[in-house]
Amino acid sequence: MSYDADVIVIGAGLAGLAATAELVDAGRKVILLDQEPEQSIGGQAHWSFGGLFFVDSPEQRRLRIKDSHALALQDWMGTAAFDREEDHWPRKWAEAYVDFAAGEKRSWLYRQGVRFFPVVGWAERGGYDANGHGNSVPRFHITWGTGPGLVAPFERRVREGVARGLVQLRFRHRVTGLSRSAGAVDTVTGEILEASAIERGQASSRSVTGAFELKAQAVIVTSGGIGGNHDLVRANWPERLGNPPEKMISGVPAHVDGKMLAIAEETGAHLINRDRMWHYTEGIQNWNPIWENHGIRVLPGPSSLWLDARGKRLPVPLFPGFDTLGTLEHIMKTGYDYTWFVLDQKIIGKEFALSGSEQNPDLTGKSIKDVFIRARADVPGPVKAFMDQGVDFVVEKDLGSLVRGMNALTKEPLIDEAELRREIVSRDREVANPFTKDLQIMAIRGARNYLGDKLIRTAAPHRILDPKAGPLIAVRLNILTRKTLGGLETDLSSRVLTEGGDPLEGVYAAGEAAGFGGGGVHGYRSLEGTFLGGCLFSGRTAGRAAAKATA
Ligand SMILES: Cc1cc2nc3c(=O)[nH]c(=O)nc-3n(C[C@H](O)[C@H](O)[C@H](O)COP(=O)(O)OP(=O)(O)OC[C@H]3O[C@@H](n4cnc5c(N)ncnc54)[C@H](O)[C@@H]3O)c2cc1C
Repeated sequence: MSYDADVIVIGAGLAGLAATAELVDAGRKVILLDQEPEQSIGGQAHWSFGGLFFVDSPEQRRLRIKDSHALALQDWMGTAAFDREEDHWPRKWAEAYVDFAAGEKRSWLYRQGVRFFPVVGWAERGGYDANGHGNSVPRFHITWGTGPGLVAPFERRVREGVARGLVQLRFRHRVTGLSRSAGAVDTVTGEILEASAIERGQASSRSVTGAFELKAQAVIVTSGGIGGNHDLVRANWPERLGNPPEKMISGVPAHVDGKMLAIAEETGAHLINRDRMWHYTEGIQNWNPIWENHGIRVLPGPSSLWLDARGKRLPVPLFPGFDTLGTLEHIMKTGYDYTWFVLDQKIIGKEFALSGSEQNPDLTGKSIKDVFIRARADVPGPVKAFMDQGVDFVVEKDLGSLVRGMNALTKEPLIDEAELRREIVSRDREVANPFTKDLQIMAIRGARNYLGDKLIRTAAPHRILDPKAGPLIAVRLNILTRKTLGGLETDLSSRVLTEGGDPLEGVYAAGEAAGFGGGGVHGYRSLEGTFLGGCLFSGRTAGRAAAKATA
């Protein structure tokens, strides 16, 4: 049998780059295929915020955060809530991933030149008991350079492989079939798409100009999830989250189309936990979109008042940044697919971080000067741009005008000014109460016990109706699609399994396509910052295992 390469990798996102880099280190010949043009190399990771889950890092220790492997595992298992037979491999991957995050993850990246912002973020704070969902301590480490800063070393290693004659990069190659000529899967077929000069991230043409057939001893599927394909998201929407939202905005580019998962399934791969997904409830329509229906996720601090479509506060502990899926489940029961943040300029200035490399030019551009400018600004530039131009934003001096603005944005005028005033005044009264029964006020005070939050993420408690904190702001929040938590079932060597549990000979999977390892390493929920690391860990594992198998 003559092969075109030792290994074919399908998808040049972060997982595919990590796998290919390992294959290069092992001296293997690789063909790396991607349906998109070369300028979109790195896939979603390029657009990412670069948040990484580390456990007991030097950054945490400097901020007096006491973290440990045991605490992280407790948080992961409480968050994942594995409860299915098919969680066998996901659970093993979760244990291995926490080992990685508490072990060599940071030093391995550091050796490749990756650096981290010194203030650690506290995402998914939970709000239940010690064994429930959420991070007991801050663990969200932002890559210096955000997503592009994390992609860079892996892209560099792959391009070194090209220079050494080990890697062929074939863009505009869209895989449509996997097959076997003997026992193992060894043939990859597909369409060659017409050349495309689109800007990175934009949808590229699907006009076909030719066909290809390639053979290799092993194939690694790193084709990403389904978040850009709203039909698939709706088809897989879990009953426990109610009906799928009528309106969703896209937190990922169109290439996250999920089609390769069905192709792998047709070849015998077992796709599990397909109903587990990670979509955000704080999506805002991008005023300056890169892809169609482009939404940006707000990573909120804890102070905004979170209201349902009728203006009622969301129940405890559904505060901003506490429990993404719990909030989604609640929202879908309200019968509306949007909610509101009501806040003021003092809160937005400190507490709105926007997820996306392009929304954080200071961090992405690695500019210490610009980070200081952001810290000193009343409202950071990218957030101000949304206040001025975002269709979901209402900014007004008084509550009456704010409510009129909110009602003008929705199909029905559901917000009652008197009711909203009552909610805010009651909340504001609790701010002056050193005892307080309002758990959100307690949470704000708790957050400010952490130096990082106090410095840059949590506004000092104050009355929202205090004119000095104004103007008042209302933000309509949409459901934003992002991550696929289920995926191709893989063992700890990233070998894809069949429904019977045997390896599908010759096929490996990594990244979002493999549910970031095992077919669902996160279980039902995530601790955040776990996805990029999941691509790296599972991509590295797949690359090493395929290198060994093709020695
Ligand atoms: C705005 C944004 C912010 C984020 N922030 C964070 C964060 O802070 N922390 C974190 O952990 N995660 C974050 N994420 C998530 C993370 O970036 C992704 O989950 C991760 O990058 C997925 O990588 P991947 O390699 O598995 O898939 P992708 O990046 O989707 O790459 C898959 C590639 O496969 C190609 N492909 C698909 N099908 C085919 C086919 N049939 N033939 C050929 N090629 C194909 C696609 O074109 C694509 O290039 C963020 C994501 C976004 C979009």
